[in-house]
Amino acid sequence: MASAEVIAIGDELTSGVRLDTNSQWLAQQLVLLGVPVACHTTVGDEQGAIVAALADACRRADIVVVSGGLGPTADDLTRQALARLAGQPLVQDDQVLAHIRQLFARRGRPMPERNVIQAQFPAGSQPLANTHGTAPGIRLRVARTAEGWSDVFALPGVPAELKEMWANQVAPAILALLGPTRRVIAQRQLRCFGAGESEIEGLLPDLIQRGRDPTVGITASRATITLRITAVGETAQACRAKIEPTVATIRACLGTLVYGEGNDELQDAVSCLLADRGATLATVEWGTAGLVASALGEVPGIALYYRGGVVIRDYASLARLLDITVNTSRGQAGDPASLAARMAIAVCDRCEADYGLAVGPFPRVDPATTPPPQVHVAVARRGRVHVEPFVFAAHPDLQRTRCAKQALNLLRLTMLDQRLETTRRSE
Ligand code: AMP
Ligand code: MG
Repeated sequence: MASAEVIAIGDELTSGVRLDTNSQWLAQQLVLLGVPVACHTTVGDEQGAIVAALADACRRADIVVVSGGLGPTADDLTRQALARLAGQPLVQDDQVLAHIRQLFARRGRPMPERNVIQAQFPAGSQPLANTHGTAPGIRLRVARTAEGWSDVFALPGVPAELKEMWANQVAPAILALLGPTRRVIAQRQLRCFGAGESEIEGLLPDLIQRGRDPTVGITASRATITLRITAVGETAQACRAKIEPTVATIRACLGTLVYGEGNDELQDAVSCLLADRGATLATVEWGTAGLVASALGEVPGIALYYRGGVVIRDYASLARLLDITVNTSRGQAGDPASLAARMAIAVCDRCEADYGLAVGPFPRVDPATTPPPQVHVAVARRGRVHVEPFVFAAHPDLQRTRCAKQALNLLRLTMLDQRLETTRRSE
């Protein structure tokens, strides 16, 4: 199976001034063509370093896609690096030069002499036309072994130009190179919440080991775990057939830890459950700055099920907005679990919703506190309420997000199982 690597060139990338979005996009496109990408390299505008990166990539991969460094200025050195790699001189292409002159003429400007370099290509390479820009791409075949070679496609860094040239010229060329050896790479993602990465791995029977087919990858981002199942096969159908039993195994092992697929978020799962039950929801949050309401607001069509939410910061607004009074004299704020329960019931009543979801008072988080503080989440329905405490031990930057997700997740689990029916009626 053909392999590919991606190289991004530019000082603005290595210095961190600009994010390399081209490599991400190019890798996604290569995977869509059925070519796995094994390595990304980012290199600054230094000719020796570019030649070395190109040589390394060509030694390893059948296809190397490069972006950046094809401009007319002295810091753009990709064409010179390609010429050095191939051991060939740069030769002028008169047709390309005429195209560049024409682009300048259309803009009513004379072509600066420096732009002539953009019409020069390593001998033996082919120009890749750039309809809208002055930087054409370069296609070059580099000998790898006695009988093998590597195909290099160098594209300009401007993302819009790169994408157009990819679609019109590079993708068709790669498909032609692959011919009947072309494979399909298919991926499915399962989204989980409620356990850590290693805990999830421990619940799965050796699925994450390397070399398995299909492969299972695990990544954590903002308290959500994603399991990526990837298969390579001759057809999409063959890939699906390989992926399906692994998905079934994961679902059987993880149960309700899996809340969705693809790019689903917890609010999408909650929205589906509300729709299934034809039920409505109201929320009240203390300390999460409206993250639960904001997440729900992102779901298309949520207006049918989400009645609204209240975001509060103190006891005074709790009294004014939800009519909940707490005697805070002598520093006694009462039991946070029962306060969360009262909040859930009050917002449910006020909004005439079927479910009320409350995130209780956000504790003051002091890293030195042992044990770490708790926040209470309550779900109310028809006068019954279920409350659970969650320990606050995430990184400070993640605490509000994690808390909002805990709340949405408890609502999801409450709707899935019947735990509300088994809890006490609220007082
Ligand atoms: P260049 O082809 O190196 O002259 O780059 C032209 C423009 O594309 C500059 O504005 C770069 O910042 C931008 N650019 C270059 N490489 C990348 C990349 N990998 N991702 C996103 N933008 C890029
Ligand atoms: Mg550059």
